[in-house]
Amino acid sequence: MAIEGGCRCGAVRYRLTVEAMPPVYCCHCLTCQTWSGSAFTQQALIGEGQIEVIAGEPEVYVNITASGSESVQRLCGTCHTRLWNTNSARPGVAVVRAGTLDASAELSPRAHIWTKRMQPWLVIDEGVPAWLENAPTADFVAVLVKK
Ligand SMILES: [Zn+2]
Ligand SMILES: [Zn+2]
Repeated sequence: MAIEGGCRCGAVRYRLTVEAMPPVYCCHCLTCQTWSGSAFTQQALIGEGQIEVIAGEPEVYVNITASGSESVQRLCGTCHTRLWNTNSARPGVAVVRAGTLDASAELSPRAHIWTKRMQPWLVIDEGVPAWLENAPTADFVAVLVKK
């Protein structure tokens, strides 16, 4: 099964060289709300080497985060959909905007972070781990890598 995705206009397409849909989490922080223009972002973590561009050439936008790390965002130069980013604080890891995956309807979030900023109308599954701010790294990784 090829796991592919792309921007809204179709100019940039990518493929994930992984066996199954990657684990995703939702971030409800204010930056994610503003940047997505929505209530939260859905992010999938994969190895940077597991993304292959199959059409077009993403543009790069470098953003220095509040903690001083360099976040390198890839987006479509035509429709400006954000596709994925890497961050100097987490070498080798790519964070895919999971809503750009063709099969995004199959995603089921494994964790929610920054729920203290969550929209008040939103109800999340009680069985899914949630943290008020960022999750401690070890806990977060454990939730995301479990089968
Ligand atoms: Zn586009
Ligand atoms: Zn966020």
